[in-house]
Amino acid sequence: MSAEEVLERIAAAVRDCTKCDLYRNTKNGVPGEGDPHAEVMFIGEGPGYHEDRQGRPFVGPAGAFLNELLASVGLDRSTVFITNVVKHRPPENRDPLPEEIAACGDYLTEQIAAIDPKVIVTLGRFSMARFFPGARIGAIHGQAKLIDGRIVVAMYHPAAALHQASLKQTVIDDFKRAIPAALTEATRLAAAGKLSAPKKQDDDDQSPPPPQQMTLF
Ligand code: SF4
Repeated sequence: MSAEEVLERIAAAVRDCTKCDLYRNTKNGVPGEGDPHAEVMFIGEGPGYHEDRQGRPFVGPAGAFLNELLASVGLDRSTVFITNVVKHRPPENRDPLPEEIAACGDYLTEQIAAIDPKVIVTLGRFSMARFFPGARIGAIHGQAKLIDGRIVVAMYHPAAALHQASLKQTVIDDFKRAIPAALTEATRLAAAGKLSAPKKQDDDDQSPPPPQQMTLF
């Protein structure tokens, strides 16, 4: 199955999903959108009001800021893939619960496997926790690690910068420094044969490389 087909199948499953209670009182599931072959994948927290209305990720004020951040490093959102750890809007934009994140986790795992990005950017605490368990965003924002053959960069959620003005410049600076650095490092590691994500289902049957974690910057 192609990446496009897998993502379509996931999107259809999300729209009909009742695996946790978050689908109740929402208008739309928000599976995510972007290039099925993106080199960079952004993972936020969950849909908000505007995202729920439109069924698309990051389309409200935080989305507008994310678009600005992408443009600041020469990326257009059509060339990346954007999704969230939970695909339905938590009531009143509350934090997603651990059981909701767990229930939704397989969709994200399948999206990552299908897209096979070189770089994953976590936006906020909840997507960060998936890759940097126990870490504090205030301590590791803008930092990157090589995790299972992909570069994972921890970033503040764009909405945090909109709610807390003092963070805005930090988010801008992190983005401008860490995203180009991650892409450069990904290209270097790939050329050296050191960037090898776990193999997808339709690849050959060789064993995936062992998990590795290495701080990059
Ligand atoms: S948040 Fe995820 S697990 Fe919960 S109903 Fe929506 S798609 Fe299903």
